[in-house]
Amino acid sequence: MAKNRKAPENRRSIAARKSQARRCKAAATAEPASSTTDIEDLAPAVPGPADAPAALRAQLLRWYDAHRRDLPWRRASGGEEDRAYAVWVSEVMLQQTRVPVVVGYYDRWMTRWPTVRSLAAATQEEVNEMWAGLGYYRRARFLLEGAKQIVEKGEFPRTASALRDVRGIGDYTAGAIASIAFNEVVPVVDGNVVRVLSRLYAIADNPKESSTVKRFWELAGQLVDPSRPGDFNQAMMELGATLCSKTKPGCSECPVSSHCQALALSRDNPPVQVTDYPRVVPKAKPRSDFAAVSVVQIAQGLKQEDNYKKDKDDLFLLIRRPEEGLLAGLWEFPLVLLDEEKTDLISRRKEMDKYLKKLLKIDVGQKPTVILREDVGEYVHVFSHIRLTMYVELLILNLKDEVGPVCSMVHGSEKLKLVNENLVESMGLSSGIRKVYNMAKASS
Ligand code: SF4
Repeated sequence: MAKNRKAPENRRSIAARKSQARRCKAAATAEPASSTTDIEDLAPAVPGPADAPAALRAQLLRWYDAHRRDLPWRRASGGEEDRAYAVWVSEVMLQQTRVPVVVGYYDRWMTRWPTVRSLAAATQEEVNEMWAGLGYYRRARFLLEGAKQIVEKGEFPRTASALRDVRGIGDYTAGAIASIAFNEVVPVVDGNVVRVLSRLYAIADNPKESSTVKRFWELAGQLVDPSRPGDFNQAMMELGATLCSKTKPGCSECPVSSHCQALALSRDNPPVQVTDYPRVVPKAKPRSDFAAVSVVQIAQGLKQEDNYKKDKDDLFLLIRRPEEGLLAGLWEFPLVLLDEEKTDLISRRKEMDKYLKKLLKIDVGQKPTVILREDVGEYVHVFSHIRLTMYVELLILNLKDEVGPVCSMVHGSEKLKLVNENLVESMGLSSGIRKVYNMAKASS
């Protein structure tokens, strides 16, 4: 099935390359080319972007001025530094999710931390709470660390090269901030720009390869408008996000269609379509991991030993993840990774018991300690490279005499926390752990 689906696309790609090669040959016959000349430079199907960059810039900027979306970060008032901060926050959020979702997060974030200085005074907990649901929490951590770094330095870096020294700011974000907030003539290359450039220049190479990525940066650098670099960069991204979409590009309305070599190729060679560009690179299959997760609830509303009544002051045990790696520094319920062949109920409980004994020095294998232990289901969370199947249980404990020692152990630790229901509701948990909590809550 998969092979059949890919076949037409391969044919189109081959046809596109053959067509380019034919043009290359024709042009080479007409005029000898240097050995370093690119195939697109030899015989563009139409006057390409490189032939008329000024015309392309003017057409694109005119379109952007008339059609740009009204987004909160584009309305940022204040000085250049406030604008730089707004661009930074929005661009990091936009790397996580779609514009309509980002708008809500951005507004809440800016209400709470309107300046880089106010963000620098926040705690990681508060930032995680605000970021909850956006995923990839490392980016939120870098925003906070970067803000502290900038405040310590005393000013917002103004150039792309200086911005790259800030924790978490890479080439793309540095280019966006420097061009949009400080008018530096530098390009940006994100997924939308890659799509537009691949089509404008009919680039059929693997867009993930470093040599191709380098080429995109070079081409974007040649195109960026010297007098309005920030607007030009936003216009390129806007075109990719709206008209030049992945599957249904609106070429008939496109302001730069007269420069688009993929469009010209598709007209000359019916099997070729503009959507053949950029080349689709199959994603690596995510690794499968398995884990037992225990929502450990410590009973407070125990009137009699065998008459448990759920109490709003019951405490939930949370553990902080390591500072590096997946979901770094976030709080979660006790979680142990399992071998695939040891995901049956007995093995899961055995592993969890061992873990809790090591962690809290309590033996949940002892019947009087356990008020309730039940499986509440499975939940699969897919990260970019891992497919994690979590087997979730609710474990309600009556710690009686052990409550004191457990509480003092937790109190003296930065890695453990006992929190009541209200706090769990408001904390910045990852979406997977939030789902696990809701499953346990529904069950109890
Ligand atoms: S003509 Fe079509 S494919 Fe080319 S840049 Fe415009 S929208 Fe994209």
